[in-house]
Amino acid sequence: MSANNPTRTGDGSRNLDSAGGIEISRSVPRTRILIIEDEPDIVRGLTDALEFEGFEVVSTGEGQKGVQLMKDRGADCAILDLMLPDLNGYQVCEEIRSFNPIVPIIILTARGQESDKIRGLDAGADDYVTKPFSVGELLARIKAIFRRLHKSPAAHGDVIRIGANEIDVKKHTLTRARRTSPLSFYEVELIKLLSEREDQPLSRDEILDKIWGLDAHPTNRTVDNFIVKLRKKIEDDHKTPRHILTVYGLGYKLVR
Ligand code: CA
Repeated sequence: MSANNPTRTGDGSRNLDSAGGIEISRSVPRTRILIIEDEPDIVRGLTDALEFEGFEVVSTGEGQKGVQLMKDRGADCAILDLMLPDLNGYQVCEEIRSFNPIVPIIILTARGQESDKIRGLDAGADDYVTKPFSVGELLARIKAIFRRLHKSPAAHGDVIRIGANEIDVKKHTLTRARRTSPLSFYEVELIKLLSEREDQPLSRDEILDKIWGLDAHPTNRTVDNFIVKLRKKIEDDHKTPRHILTVYGLGYKLVR
């Protein structure tokens, strides 16, 4: 199985029930989660909970091995600790992103380290969970990712056009001025949501709820960080955006 193929589970969406639980079927490969974390207690707790939910779990305590596992075996989602004995989590994230721009990556950070979160998102992570976390919280995040991943993109077609940008929602790419660059899972989800509601304001809370799937996500800054990243990619001048506009006191709206 290719690490570059985010739809490794193929039509595995049939195996997800409405609550996001998984029925195990022998005919479809199980959804694989890669855990890169060196604290054995956390690995054990997560592995038990994920396997109980029907996921296949692969884990390692070393960053370089994690990168290699993603290359060799692929995964549908990665959980990545920032403090590892060899590479740090940012380096791991960047290395994985260099060959797999799509796989959802959730980073584990220490409490209150806002700068860690921003740096992690800059390195290509999609979401973060603050330590100490409950296994239930992380499971809810992972299930939310797969619920969105398996939703039919049919309503969108494959390509969304915003100004001079063409976003291919299946290939997770952005083409602009004849250059094509990768977009992460959440960047594509954000573009899809904004374009579904073109010209209408969307609040940060609604964006968090619809994309990250939890009302209790720790901070609205997550949305702002993703908007900043997207503007840098699609706006001519990200400081005076013409497509992703701020609606003061509320959130954002997309204008094509
Ligand atoms: Ca650690």
